[in-house]
Amino acid sequence: MDFSSFCPHCKTYQEFTLNTYQDKPCVHCNKNLFPNATDLFKSSFEFNQCPHCGAAHIYRQKDFNRKLGIALLFIGIGLSFFTYGISLLVVTIVDWLLYKRVGEVGCCYLCESQFRNSPQVKALEIFDLELYDYYQNIKK
Ligand SMILES: [Zn+2]
Ligand SMILES: [Zn+2]
Repeated sequence: MDFSSFCPHCKTYQEFTLNTYQDKPCVHCNKNLFPNATDLFKSSFEFNQCPHCGAAHIYRQKDFNRKLGIALLFIGIGLSFFTYGISLLVVTIVDWLLYKRVGEVGCCYLCESQFRNSPQVKALEIFDLELYDYYQNIKK
C-alpha cells in the first residue's frame, strides 16, 4: 500500500510504500508515523481507524487530479470559440476517460493522510459532508 501523509510532529510531507506493516519513522524527526495503528491494520491494512491520527473515519474518493480537470475545462472553453464548441466536447470526453481510469484513494477526514493501492480502500465509505464538517470543527 502507498501512503502519503504529513508527520504529526514536524509536518514534513512524505510518501512511501509498505507491503507488510512495519513501524515507520518520520524521515525528518524520526517519530513513529503510525502511533494509532490497530492490530487489524498491522495484519491486513484494514482501516478501522486512521493509523496516523486515530480518527475513526476515512473516506474513499476517486484519485482524480482536480486541478488537471479544471485546467482541461479552461482549455476547452478557450478553444471553443475557434472550434465551434468541438474542443469542449473533446475536453469533456478526455476528462471522462481520465476519470474512468484513475483508481480510488482512501483519505483521513482529520489528518488528510492518503492511502492508495490497497484492496481495503474499496471497503471504505465514500465522502460524507457531515462527517467532514464534524472533523473540520475538531481541527479548530
Ligand atoms: Zn516528523
Ligand atoms: Zn488521520
